[in-house]
Amino acid sequence: MSKNIQAIRGMNDILPEQTPLWRYLEDSVAGLLDGYGYRQIRMPVVEFTDLFKRSIGEVTDIVEKEMYTFADRNGDSLTLRPEGTASCVRAVQEHGLIGGGQPQKLWYIGPMFRHERPQKGRYRQFHQIGVELFNFDGPDVDAELIVLTWRLWGILGIRDAVQLELNSLGSSDDRARYREALVEYLSARFEQLDEDSQRRLSSNPLRILDSKNPDTQALLVDAPKLADYLSEESRVHFAGLKARLDAAHIPYVLNPKLVRGLDYYGKTVFEWTTDKLGAQGTVCAGGRYDGLVEQLGGKPTPAVGFAMGVERLVLLIETLNKVPAELARQVDVYLAAFGEAAELAAVQLSEQLRDAVPGLRLVVNAGAGSFKSQLKKADKSGALFALILGEDELNRQVVGVKPLRGDAEQQTVAWDALSAHLAACLAQA
Ligand code: ATP
Ligand code: MG
Repeated sequence: MSKNIQAIRGMNDILPEQTPLWRYLEDSVAGLLDGYGYRQIRMPVVEFTDLFKRSIGEVTDIVEKEMYTFADRNGDSLTLRPEGTASCVRAVQEHGLIGGGQPQKLWYIGPMFRHERPQKGRYRQFHQIGVELFNFDGPDVDAELIVLTWRLWGILGIRDAVQLELNSLGSSDDRARYREALVEYLSARFEQLDEDSQRRLSSNPLRILDSKNPDTQALLVDAPKLADYLSEESRVHFAGLKARLDAAHIPYVLNPKLVRGLDYYGKTVFEWTTDKLGAQGTVCAGGRYDGLVEQLGGKPTPAVGFAMGVERLVLLIETLNKVPAELARQVDVYLAAFGEAAELAAVQLSEQLRDAVPGLRLVVNAGAGSFKSQLKKADKSGALFALILGEDELNRQVVGVKPLRGDAEQQTVAWDALSAHLAACLAQA
């Protein structure tokens, strides 16, 4: 006997019990972003490998060890996208959406792929909702991104559980000067660094700042601070952002070690973190990447964005018991018909109801069955009301409306009054 084939480790099915919460989250975000005038873009999940190497950076965890890269049948090296920013930049450039300096406020949602060690909140296929703004150079849009995520946390009821961490990485010149100072400091302590950090000292020393190794972290306490190397322009930008967050009463903590795992960030970087999910505590992360478009062959284009992890937000909403109660019910009305003539009438009646009551969630019994078995299915569906249509009801052009929750009495309602009756009942429920 052959073994059943299972899903790939770290790649999850989202089952019907979970999809209502996913849709609620996705719809909440889509509605919010509509309200700020952001427009959705959809990119392919596969790109040329070089796109990610050139944008994310060769010496990053993602490119060094997390990408799903394979040869296409014609020999091209392709990669399942590990994130959305690079694809989005490619797309807007390819379609001439930013090259003339046009402002763009875009968002996307979809699966991302990274070969990481699967654990709670960390998967190999996961989903991000990302936002990218192009051709805005001021701190006002950096602030807007944070303000709108803050609003989202309010809508989702998770505001109290998240904290904003903020840092400025300065301009690339600022970072070059800082890098020199940091390398000098760490070179003198080379033997005390962990292996990864020793390697990064020559390739990508700033990444050492977010090493998870406690000994390395201890060593960094007295290291030079990036904040002391910011140019006047970077300082003013950062001050402008902080002033706007203060004006919006959004609390934040400054985290000088926040450097982000991708090379393309500069100036503003931020993360929304929670202590409710264990080690995988970052639910949303982003920052400014003014250099990336040019790095990918385009004109210099200021840009800023963020991505949030859908799985982690779902986990957080569940952990905090913030799943809206109305998500538990997916069916309003269950129509049970008995006998061939009633079944035929049910087709017509149900379609009339759908016309008359927009948004009605009506399940029509399939597969016939006895009175008892159909009502059992009606109850199991979670519906609030069962409609009963038998031979007698058919002859009188009525239906029995049986409340399935609570102990209200069954009523008999004429067909032409049914839609108004149901709409009223559901409005009360
Ligand atoms: P982490 O430090 O947790 O690895 P990251 O810095 O690699 O995160 P980003 O590339 O900034 O993450 O992605 C943005 C968000 O996407 C993260 O804050 C997180 O919520 C989510 N995310 C990233 N990687 C994963 C993953 N493997 N599984 C689930 N969610 C993820
Ligand atoms: Mg990561």
